Amino acid sequence: MGEPLRKKLQVTCQRKRLANPEPKLLRRNGLDQSFGRLLLAMETGTGKKLPVCRRTRQSVRGGESTQFELPSLALVYLQPAMKVIVIIPAAGLGTRMAPVPSAMDAKTKKPHPSKQFNELAGTPILIHTIRKFAAVDAVDEIWIALRENEMEGFRARLAKDLKDIKKKIEFVVGGEHRQQSVENALNAVTAATDDVVLVHDAVRPLVTAEIIHDVIEAAKKYGAAIAGMPAVDTVKQVERTSEGAIVKSTIPRAGVVLAQTPQGFHYSVIKKAFDEASADGFMGTDEASLAERSGHEVAVVMGSPRNIKITSPGDMELAEFYLRK
Ligand code: C5P
Repeated sequence: MGEPLRKKLQVTCQRKRLANPEPKLLRRNGLDQSFGRLLLAMETGTGKKLPVCRRTRQSVRGGESTQFELPSLALVYLQPAMKVIVIIPAAGLGTRMAPVPSAMDAKTKKPHPSKQFNELAGTPILIHTIRKFAAVDAVDEIWIALRENEMEGFRARLAKDLKDIKKKIEFVVGGEHRQQSVENALNAVTAATDDVVLVHDAVRPLVTAEIIHDVIEAAKKYGAAIAGMPAVDTVKQVERTSEGAIVKSTIPRAGVVLAQTPQGFHYSVIKKAFDEASADGFMGTDEASLAERSGHEVAVVMGSPRNIKITSPGDMELAEFYLRK
């Protein structure tokens, strides 16, 4: 749809606006390819649904034009298409990386940074991670949960390192646990029911555009999806003891997948799962576990052995190696 027609449609929409409308989205219909990311929805004010509009094609000199006839007394809203919102929890201390995070680093003589701020090839891990999502066209917004005392410093670093990035990037204060950090971001975003929310660990900077894309598509289709890897080692169920662990049983590995992130959900699915977990005091180690207990099936798409979660110092060497490749 060309600009003049879009303008005409918008003007018509405004003219037909009813008094005291209830802005409720009853229908979402794409108009045509070139209408791009705009969707049309409407309501009569009486609660009665009407066809969105009649589209007619007309031959005009030099080609064909499309006209939209709006039913009378129709209230029309133009809404942006389904959004993809990324939440990156980055408020952990990373105690397995630096046992006492506030202790001084022998080299820099400064306190050890939280692990998401450790530098890979001269750039903080978190910046690598943000870049991966910012480079994906389908992503609209990125929300980062940070520790309050790290927010100012990171904002400055972000302004310097990511000034080329046009995407909306927002910050929220993280919580005591990963789940609370994600929940704080979830409570801050504005989303429609079937918008997609992706959650990704700040410390997985080697995620690929392909994995991000696959999780978005699967989340759109199934409502909930994660990246995962089939188990290659034999998996044992154990009981922890003071000296280590005792094997209780062997879990057939064909039925085991190791969960990675991103994990993606329709907004309605993840919001319900978090509300229920919060009401029951349930704490999970990933978002999918909350969706599962909320009764939603979670699809798995192929992750990557390189999509590692940087947890201990040895992981930094591996990540540097993969990054150079
Ligand atoms: O703790 P874990 O290693 O599983 O952390 C996974 C991700 O969750 C990391 O990116 C970490 O920064 C984040 N996290 C958080 N808030 C916490 C704890 C962890 O955002 N309170």
